[in-house]
Amino acid sequence: MLVAVLKEAASRDHRVSLTPDAVTKLVKAKVEVVVQGGAGEAAGFPDAAYVSAGARIASDAVAACKGAQVVLKVQPPTDAEAGLCDSGAVLISLLRPGSHAAIAKRLAERKVSTLALELVPRITRAQSMDVLSSQSTVAGYKAVLIGASELGKFLPMLTTAAGNIQPARVFVIGAGVSGLMAIATARRLGGVVSAFDVRPAAREQVLSLGATFVAAASVSASAEAAGGYARAQTDEERAATLAALAAHIKDVDLVVTTANIPGKPAPKLITADMVKTMRPGAVIVDLAAENGGNCELTKANETVRVHGITILGPVDLPATVPFHASQMFSRNVLTLLQHLINKEGALVVDPKDEITGAMLVTHEGSVLK
Ligand code: NAD
Repeated sequence: MLVAVLKEAASRDHRVSLTPDAVTKLVKAKVEVVVQGGAGEAAGFPDAAYVSAGARIASDAVAACKGAQVVLKVQPPTDAEAGLCDSGAVLISLLRPGSHAAIAKRLAERKVSTLALELVPRITRAQSMDVLSSQSTVAGYKAVLIGASELGKFLPMLTTAAGNIQPARVFVIGAGVSGLMAIATARRLGGVVSAFDVRPAAREQVLSLGATFVAAASVSASAEAAGGYARAQTDEERAATLAALAAHIKDVDLVVTTANIPGKPAPKLITADMVKTMRPGAVIVDLAAENGGNCELTKANETVRVHGITILGPVDLPATVPFHASQMFSRNVLTLLQHLINKEGALVVDPKDEITGAMLVTHEGSVLK
């Protein structure tokens, strides 16, 4: 079996879908790997490392895809890349479900089976294949770093000959995968951290990380929907939450917001009026920017400065930590490949399989979802 690793066409994404250590494991399992030249370069994995791991280097995407049964990418394929996959091949990449109709049609026409990495089911068995979790971990870490560097303050408390410095107050809204990593990172940098989430399980995790929990009255057992995700709040619940957050937010320096509800726009938890009440120089890093933002004033991929407050709306933060983001992404992809390869070493795409079926977007000429 031949697995092809393509170089990301999007210039801002420096990640690679498979790293040399995963190549070593696949080669040991008698899988051939071909890597498009330079695919791992920007993430810190030169072609030579892939060759040492047993891969072959192809001069371009056309040469890499030729005869490949599996094509791996991080970002959704471009139209040209979709056209390079052989009929019957399996493409594994992110696909941005919801805005994937045109590319899915193209892949189905070419009889490519497409597995969308966003659709890994959130079951214990598939946890090690879950790129949303691994990349959210990276995003939560980097969000605190960019927030801290935008802030005109130290995060830690300092006692110096030039005076004593009070620690910065950091508030994390949404304590899922990225939020918990943001809390841990801000604590390590010495900030005084508080957090909020609507799910009761998140409250315990926040406390176990040494942060305080805000607006506890807004947590309800019914807030958790299927798969451990939150449901949207009712208008009444939202009003109570906003009042509690408004009372807290005026005394913090750095806010990292990560609240999301699957399939819906991100809940608006910081209103324009709340921003006006914040400390001068305060910073908001809105990780929900791509889904419309948790703050009313957020603009995706832009920096907004208003009333002395800076609001950052970064998208694709994992791509800015390419070495470790790729290593984690690659581990997820390797586990998925090991799931798809049977004992005889053949690739099996079974729509009835709990994991494969949930991820399968195109198969045997049809668009399934
Ligand atoms: P997510 O990105 O959908 O949402 C981020 C956080 O925002 C969640 O914690 C959610 O509760 C919170 N949120 C939603 N509305 C809110 C509001 N109005 N106010 C405050 N917070 C709000 O979720 P995620 O981080 O990807 O995952 C959520 C949970 O799913 C995790 O904590 C975990 O328990 C579970 N999970 C399970 C697996 C698995 O079993 N394979 C993998 C990943 C996550």
